[in-house]
Amino acid sequence: MSVQTPSRLVSIPEDCGAEAADRGFSTMAKSMVGSSILVIANEIRDLLARGVEVANMTVGDFDPCEFPIPERLRELLLEAVEEGDTNYPPPAGLTELRQAVRRHIARTQGLDYPLDGIAIVSGGRPSLYSTYRLLVDPDDLVVVPVPSWNNHNYRDTCRVRLRVVHCGPETAFQPTAELLRPHLAEARLLVLNTPQNPSGGVMAREEVEAFGRLLVEENERRRADGDKPLYLLYDQIYRSIVFSGHRHWSPVTLVPECAPYVIHSDGISKGLAGTGLRCGWLFGPPAIARKVVALLTHVGAWAPKPVQAATARLLADEQAMAAWEEEMIRRVQSRLDVLRDGLAELRADGLPVDFIDPQGAIYLSVRFGVAGRRTADGRVLRTNEDIRSWLLRRAAFAVVPFSAFGVEEEREDCWSRVSVGAVSVEQIRRALPRLRRALEELA
Ligand code: PMP
Repeated sequence: MSVQTPSRLVSIPEDCGAEAADRGFSTMAKSMVGSSILVIANEIRDLLARGVEVANMTVGDFDPCEFPIPERLRELLLEAVEEGDTNYPPPAGLTELRQAVRRHIARTQGLDYPLDGIAIVSGGRPSLYSTYRLLVDPDDLVVVPVPSWNNHNYRDTCRVRLRVVHCGPETAFQPTAELLRPHLAEARLLVLNTPQNPSGGVMAREEVEAFGRLLVEENERRRADGDKPLYLLYDQIYRSIVFSGHRHWSPVTLVPECAPYVIHSDGISKGLAGTGLRCGWLFGPPAIARKVVALLTHVGAWAPKPVQAATARLLADEQAMAAWEEEMIRRVQSRLDVLRDGLAELRADGLPVDFIDPQGAIYLSVRFGVAGRRTADGRVLRTNEDIRSWLLRRAAFAVVPFSAFGVEEEREDCWSRVSVGAVSVEQIRRALPRLRRALEELA
């Protein structure tokens, strides 16, 4: 038997099926919107193609040249492939990895979850999506602070109602329990993220504890009334990237009674710079973790088996992990510090710049207070989009306005996210004088 070869080539045009799909898409599909960050990425690509040096601080990703994965993880990955770890993993993840995650959580957060409370998934997103899917019915209410990452997309894909609560620079854009309390009575789910994308804010211990107590209090009332519980989706994908003076906490560590209501999402995407390796874990009540496993089995959103095997071995190596986490913090912080110092100089010289000191994650919140000012080519900067686009054109300084993170234009007040995962210290140093010139030439 020889391999079959087709006798002719059927060529499919670019617009094949577009008209039919317009009529055929589900209501959910029609409600989905494209990523505004990708639009910015296209503009940056055009500039780069014209040979302009751009400080690309828009992507929430790492450039592997600046932030390679741990060398040991690379070796372990190759070994796992060599050893033939290339078939389906068990639906809940390799037992070896779930055990390693269990010990890792115990070591780093003082929490001993049963193995059945830990599900291995393909990165951070499947935990977030399946929590929305499994705990919230269409039209039920989800409360999210803004700015925050991706919740408006889960609103569309899961067809839930979203109540956004605006947070300001005084708390590094993190919510307080008192701010959210009045919105929770009807809610099924509250989503928190610390260290936070986009602000870089790390929630203080007292606040995490206050959320834990609020969860217990609200759920005691609901149980007495026979109502559905309020859950907390706790996204700690940047858990290990926190700077001195700050620390990451789980509400379950501080208020163990809230454990039945908390679903944690974590993984190797940020802490190990492994965004493309697609390995994450959810931990929480076993009844929920088991449902997540069941749902994702139908989607096939397992983490690749060689990545699971390698991650298990790295997590189990406590010394290697501790050394890596320190190194990762050092690399991120060196970039954020240069940026912060540069912005501080601009501010000290009276230029309209403000920022929040780095706390965690790979982000800095920056405010360019230039609305109403006139550019060298005579244009008045009105919207945040005007400001973003002017910064990119005049200073090749690429940032993402908070409107991409659920903040309404009129509330945004010129705040933007700057991400340092894809830039070198040198690139930041070179970008700062460009930024100064652009700010100085505004009328
Ligand atoms: N949570 C937050 C806050 C994030 O910023 C991201 C990635 N940008 C994720 C989750 C998702 O991570 P992953 O790429 O592993 O799906």
